[in-house]
Amino acid sequence: MSLSKPNRSVATLTTTRVTPCPGSGICVTCVDGCEGPCEVGRSALLGKEAIYPIPFGVISAGAEKDYPVDFSHFNIQGTCVGAIGIEADPGKAIFPAVDVTTEIGYKDKIKLKFPVFTGALGSTDIAKKHWESIAIGAAICGTLVTAGENICGMDGRAEFKNGKVVRSPEMERRVNIFKEWYDGYGGIVVQLNVEDTRIGVAEYVIEKLGVDFIELKWGQGAKNIGGEVKLPTLERALELKRRGYIVLPDPENPAVQEAFHKGGLTSFERHSRLGMVDEESFYKEVERLRGLGAKHISLKTGAYRPADLARAVKFASEAKIDLLTVDGAGGGTGMSPWRMMNEWGIPTVYIECLLYNFCRRLEEKGKYIPSCAIAGGLSLEDHIFKAIALGAPYIKAVCMGRAIMTAAMVGNTHGRLLKEKVEMEGEDIEEGLLRLFNGAWTLKERYGEDFKKIPPGAIGMFTYFERLKQGLKQLMSGSRKFALKYISRDDIMALTKEAAEISGIPYIMDADREEVSRILG
Ligand code: SF4
Repeated sequence: MSLSKPNRSVATLTTTRVTPCPGSGICVTCVDGCEGPCEVGRSALLGKEAIYPIPFGVISAGAEKDYPVDFSHFNIQGTCVGAIGIEADPGKAIFPAVDVTTEIGYKDKIKLKFPVFTGALGSTDIAKKHWESIAIGAAICGTLVTAGENICGMDGRAEFKNGKVVRSPEMERRVNIFKEWYDGYGGIVVQLNVEDTRIGVAEYVIEKLGVDFIELKWGQGAKNIGGEVKLPTLERALELKRRGYIVLPDPENPAVQEAFHKGGLTSFERHSRLGMVDEESFYKEVERLRGLGAKHISLKTGAYRPADLARAVKFASEAKIDLLTVDGAGGGTGMSPWRMMNEWGIPTVYIECLLYNFCRRLEEKGKYIPSCAIAGGLSLEDHIFKAIALGAPYIKAVCMGRAIMTAAMVGNTHGRLLKEKVEMEGEDIEEGLLRLFNGAWTLKERYGEDFKKIPPGAIGMFTYFERLKQGLKQLMSGSRKFALKYISRDDIMALTKEAAEISGIPYIMDADREEVSRILG
């Protein structure tokens, strides 16, 4: 059985004429005269432009490969006995009483109202467009939001001095929006990649914008190269090449400029450079950032090979950083080569099992284990529960990129439709929002007049979090765990032998074996 569906996907708007061969994806009879709606056919016309999901700038794309083991291969254990973390009294042990707050960090802990935070929103158009909603959403949900890579470098209005950024209105906007709504939970994280480090983003955001949480980025789950975006104009391509980015094809080449003007080339690609990880440089960089004033440091690593995950765990432990986020394959992003998204990297469940084993090995040696978070294709409360259980006690939170973006986008779409209705029919917009979003009344009660300033996307994100929160509390109370810290590996079971072998979680028919023997004698 093939796990992939090459040569056709809704992500690339491609399809086959007749049934495809499982391996190649090429039609079992590829006929001369077909216009080529498949990925190979499209590539004959579009070449490199056919590598990416479309339409760029208005989508987030997620991998569609069906990995042998995912979170559906585990089920959550329930029990009818007792309650942990609360008095075992039916009048008190009710699901609304479940504590879903968490905290991350080394010494100076950051409290989160819910164990979910956003993926990095970097320089893609879609991230920029929805930042206000997601940043305000994160602040009112009491969680972390991450300003991703290349924001200053891509900012058309940014000012530079001796190659270093001295002002970036876009970064200012991003930081200020979050700070305006921050109420003591969560925080804003600014991510650094190779280019950001070169142009001095950390110095700028720490010294000028008062950011105190910096994330070092090694990679992500959706691709194993740096971040990339499409550039629709020649001027923009030339500007970013001048700023030191890799821009393809070379916008300074006269033949490329001619192809662009004639329409054979419709856009340029801006790529980031590959980071070169090494142990000493990592420790030096963490110290440098602390010296600049960063109070919290996190490391975000991608679905790299096990040795690299071991490096991430060890370096994070030695440098005593606050958060290690591991992003497994099977997730998504604003722009990534489609086949790469599907075919590279260690899938989320597998990489989380490796992470658990590596943390345990270091902990047995008495080493510090940073707060860990897992990412890569998670969207609902059962995913959160299983992800925390599978990596317990090390997983303190879950990072959700696309799911949060989806909630914010849907919120904004309905907000726009409501606005159009208001303009046509004269309805009160606040009344409309209160009717539209189930979570709106809570925000109205909490923020009063300021409720009007909350974008619909943020209300959508908050309402989605309310659903996740209740769903997680229900699952936890069913397992009789009344706080996140009590969730353990014992709270899930493996439905397949393969899932049991990968994870060390008992196969469903072996679970509770000793206790069963004790009970039955
Ligand atoms: S060119 Fe046409 S017939 Fe050939 S594989 Fe593509 S869709 Fe099928």
